[in-house]
Amino acid sequence: MADLFDRPVHLKAYLTGRCTKCKHYNEVMTHDYGNLPYRELEDQMDRTNHSIHPIMCKKCGAGYPPQHLVYRDVDRKEDVVRVQIDYSSPVDPETSAAMTEGHDRRYDIFKEYEREFWAAYTGFALEDWRAAVGELLRSEIEAGCSALGITPGEWRTEQQARKDMSTRFKTDADRSAFWQAANHEFITDEILNIGAMGWPPELLVKRYGSRRTRFAIMYFPIAEALETLRTRYIGQLFRKEKGDNAFLLRRIGQLTEDMQKQAVRANQLIRKVDEQKHEIAGLQDKVGVANAKIASLSNQQPAEERNKDDIRRIRELKSFVGELLAELRAIRPDEPEDIGESPMLDESGTDGADTPTTDLSILEGKTVAIIGGYRSRRDNGDYPCEITTHDGRKHDPDFYTALQQADIIVVLTRFISHASMWEARTVAAQEDKPIYYAQEINIRSILNTVVQK
Ligand SMILES: [Zn+2]
Repeated sequence: MADLFDRPVHLKAYLTGRCTKCKHYNEVMTHDYGNLPYRELEDQMDRTNHSIHPIMCKKCGAGYPPQHLVYRDVDRKEDVVRVQIDYSSPVDPETSAAMTEGHDRRYDIFKEYEREFWAAYTGFALEDWRAAVGELLRSEIEAGCSALGITPGEWRTEQQARKDMSTRFKTDADRSAFWQAANHEFITDEILNIGAMGWPPELLVKRYGSRRTRFAIMYFPIAEALETLRTRYIGQLFRKEKGDNAFLLRRIGQLTEDMQKQAVRANQLIRKVDEQKHEIAGLQDKVGVANAKIASLSNQQPAEERNKDDIRRIRELKSFVGELLAELRAIRPDEPEDIGESPMLDESGTDGADTPTTDLSILEGKTVAIIGGYRSRRDNGDYPCEITTHDGRKHDPDFYTALQQADIIVVLTRFISHASMWEARTVAAQEDKPIYYAQEINIRSILNTVVQK
């Protein structure tokens, strides 16, 4: 044992755990103890309070609470201890300081109650001496004998040594002295030196037996600040107690178990909350992207609004033009103008041999009003559209009817007055009808011009 304790160990502490956002496993070194002999290291470990802080994921950059505190032997590349970090009952700094202070005072506390403790402990042993000796290790029996100046027997087995000791002593005083000497290793090394903060109840039971482990853990004098730890250990030790007075201890064990279940649950919830925090952040990112998209779409909205504006302005202009025309009409009704006689329109196939025949089929079903001439015939001829005419000389009802009924308006500029032309343009503007200006009087040629434009 001695060389193990003297061997220097280089220990580092790490915060580890899976990222709550992307599940990547991360480790962050949080303390380097340096190369120390075991005893000194143990002392340092007692003194070092690791602050548990969020660690950064190397993969996704998220910060999250670590799951474990790992003590690693750097040279042997081996994890010595792996402690699950308990977030369920965070120890406040004051409590933590009081516990450390209590731990540091353990030798003084024991000294103060040492006499009472040993008295109670030997009393407990004497109640059932055979059972008490039955838990002693051979090395402890030898240490007890040596302290009392008894020559150890030639025992072949540990069991034989125990049997020998159970009948060896004649008085309680001898038994008490032997018991105290034999228990020096257990009480001094395991219980006192390590201290309540580091007791491993299950391991102690395995090595030293459950009777005395239970007694030591229940009655060893410790600082008030460490009593909560004692309660927890008792819970662990008496979970399956079946003895006569076991009811209360079983109850403590059950409560401790419940507490541990609650702690596990609380830890899971804390992790879940952290995972959801990242999920929410992810969703917020998506909402952000969606908002940006909506904003960029909204930026296209003004174009449509400008369009609406245009439509409104066009309407205003149209009515303005209409009012101007009405004004003009009032000022100069039928003002005679120096224009030629209205011509009879040419109904022949083309106005010239070199005019290419244009496909007029898109005019099918439409009405084309030609203002400034008249026709000799009333039928439709072989045009695909209906042709109406008005000479434009008088702004009579026929003139307006012709303009209103037309899908397409054609003005023969050589043969109508300015007033008629403005009337035609006004109707075209207000009714959104296409209007064309022609010089020629051949109908097919006029239609060709319309189609080509
Ligand atoms: Zn991550």
